[in-house]
Amino acid sequence: MKSLELPGGGAMPALGLGTWHMGESSGRRAAEVAAVRAAIAMGYRLIDTAEMYGEGGAEQVVGQAVAEALRAGEVRREELFIVSKVYPHNASRRGTPAACARSLSRLGLDHVDLYLLHWRGEYPLAETCEAMRALVADARIRHWGVSNFDVDDMEELEAVDGGCAANQVYFSVGERGAEFSLLPWQRQRGMPMMAYSPIDQGALAADPALGRLAQKLGVTTAQLALAWVISRTGVVAIPKAVRENHLRENLAAADLQLSAETLAEIDRLHPPPRRKKPLAMI
Ligand code: NDP
Repeated sequence: MKSLELPGGGAMPALGLGTWHMGESSGRRAAEVAAVRAAIAMGYRLIDTAEMYGEGGAEQVVGQAVAEALRAGEVRREELFIVSKVYPHNASRRGTPAACARSLSRLGLDHVDLYLLHWRGEYPLAETCEAMRALVADARIRHWGVSNFDVDDMEELEAVDGGCAANQVYFSVGERGAEFSLLPWQRQRGMPMMAYSPIDQGALAADPALGRLAQKLGVTTAQLALAWVISRTGVVAIPKAVRENHLRENLAAADLQLSAETLAEIDRLHPPPRRKKPLAMI
């Protein structure tokens, strides 16, 4: 799988596994741990989670699956790229390291590879950045970044601290707003954009027009949607899946090459933005 360079060195796989809505119910937990474990076994290396998901439950699911995979020798820790996020209301000078410590404990890890401010909140960016830098110095996180930041937020952040490694935003065939100015801004700085909800929370898999195009190409609709996201320079996709066929399909999408003709047809079905709109969020 291709990977994207991070501004501070190191790299992130172009496709990973999302975990929102995992860890919310004890009845589904075994299936979710099995899904994350299966994902690692089939080759997923990037896993995206957050303290918010299941109020820590998703991190526990990831932690259990990673521990099992490490114990079984299926993967080495340094091959994995684990992302978690701090709630804005925890992102103070003292709250950030405390939240990170809780996340690491639930994950059963001594560090995460990328730690994101989930969205902008009440604390000054300078305070959060200072806390992020201290976590890097303490080797609790390798890189830090943000999520749901539009260009104006990114400019404000850059004026405070130039160390942001990535910005995770809503971006898909159906929601292309970020392409207008945010994606070019990030590309100029070599800062990957992580596309969340890349299949519009499952809805794009049922898009009839995209479905017809996918059928012609001999791929599934979700695969076409994901291959399109990854075909954008500087963009990483993190689809969430629990069903094994979804996990396999999505991983295979990382190897698809879309022709100029297919890309043009997708532009016709879902045109690129013509003007700046506020960044979409889920
Ligand atoms: P996705 O676009 O990834 O869609 C997930 C849904 O699509 C699930 O219901 C899944 O079903 C289904 N699905 C997955 N693969 C397929 C497939 N091949 N065919 C048909 N259906 C499929 O939505 P998410 O909102 O989960 O976004 C992905 C991740 O991004 C999140 O899990 C989270 O990690 C992150 N995120 C970050 C946000 C932020 O603010 N930073 C906000 C939102 C998401 P099933 O599970 O049953 O397999």
